[in-house]
Amino acid sequence: MIGWLRKAIQSLLTRDVQFPLTFLFERLLLKTIQVRQMKIPQNLYENYHAHVYFNAQTIAQAEQLCVEAGRRFKVKVGRVHRKIVGPHPHWSCQLAFNAAQFQELILWLEQNRNGLDILIHGLTGDDLEDHTVHASWLGEPQKLRLGFFSAYTQSQ
Ligand code: ZN
Repeated sequence: MIGWLRKAIQSLLTRDVQFPLTFLFERLLLKTIQVRQMKIPQNLYENYHAHVYFNAQTIAQAEQLCVEAGRRFKVKVGRVHRKIVGPHPHWSCQLAFNAAQFQELILWLEQNRNGLDILIHGLTGDDLEDHTVHASWLGEPQKLRLGFFSAYTQSQ
């Protein structure tokens, strides 16, 4: 019945066409995996922070997200900072949680962040490493104010 269609497609998909298509598909898949690995935090540490970033337009949304996360998952909710604090380039609110809470919280945050960007970082005792090699993101990665740490270290 649709044999003519299959034949037409098969005749179109000669090796010359198949190869670039397969190649493009693999490139696309690889890119997607790379992006997902960058975006989806992994449970590698005992303790974590999530820093929810927001601005004057999204503060109510962010506050609601943090309060609800605290209520649902019994994570510690920090102050809602209407100013730049520490290495964070935007106004922020901190959630403190551990490996046991990680999976459910991260999934819920990803499903409910509604466009907010969230920094997730492990707590290893090295502030600079925590905010670089041990950091991952929900949403768009933001450039942190890493100079904050060298200024802090020098003042010790
Ligand atoms: Zn932190």
